Amino acid sequence: MERKKIVAGNWKMNMTPAKTVELIATLKPLVESIDVDVVFCVPAIDIVPAITATRGTNIAIGAENMYFEESGAYTGEISPEMLVDAGVKYVILGHSERREYFHETDEELNKKVKKAFEHSLTPILCCGETLEQREMGITLDWIRMQIKSVLVDVPASDVAKMVIAYEPIWAIGTGVTATSEQAEEVCKAIRECIAEIYDEDTAKSVRIQYGGSVNAGNAKELFSQPNIDGGLVGGASLKPEFGKIVNYK
Ligand code: PEP
Repeated sequence: MERKKIVAGNWKMNMTPAKTVELIATLKPLVESIDVDVVFCVPAIDIVPAITATRGTNIAIGAENMYFEESGAYTGEISPEMLVDAGVKYVILGHSERREYFHETDEELNKKVKKAFEHSLTPILCCGETLEQREMGITLDWIRMQIKSVLVDVPASDVAKMVIAYEPIWAIGTGVTATSEQAEEVCKAIRECIAEIYDEDTAKSVRIQYGGSVNAGNAKELFSQPNIDGGLVGGASLKPEFGKIVNYK
């Protein structure tokens, strides 16, 4: 079975609720595609207006983070039940900005991935190396370690449904994109790692995105690689260019 491509926008900490409605009105006609799953991952406060503005379209809404407890005294956090009740389908987990600025660990991400699946949310799990790690030649070891740590005790049936985003940290928001060879090498290694922990069927099902300065000019080359099933897009997801990325063919 062929994997359906998935292109997700990561809005990061941009767009007010009012601007969300305006941006979705602009992007909606540009991202219609029957071949590609389209996701807008938006700030928490924009989730409800985004769900309303995309009702009846091919766009699914994702969150950018989530807490691993059900409810209670966790001021400032958002629970999976809240996301699901609002109509959210996906959640980005472990973006490098959250790992760096908010000190998220693989152990916490393991709890978040399990909790997301308990609520039938699809995680978009991010992994990626720093430039220093790449230059040291430890990229593949590092990525394998991240994947293995975050997936401890996550069953194959869940992993088959998840999305993994390979995002080299040196390529995020920098305008420097990994070459298609570099991106394919790591995405292939992630799939092999899943086959090793689980089995071939699970590895064939999991969708692996590339993220890091994806734009209208490089999307086709990147998304045409055999192990790259689409992209996680930051900066360009806030512009009409996102429509060209979704329709990369
Ligand atoms: C991201 O935020 O996940 C990302 C890849 O950003 P950009 O496309 O701006 O590099």
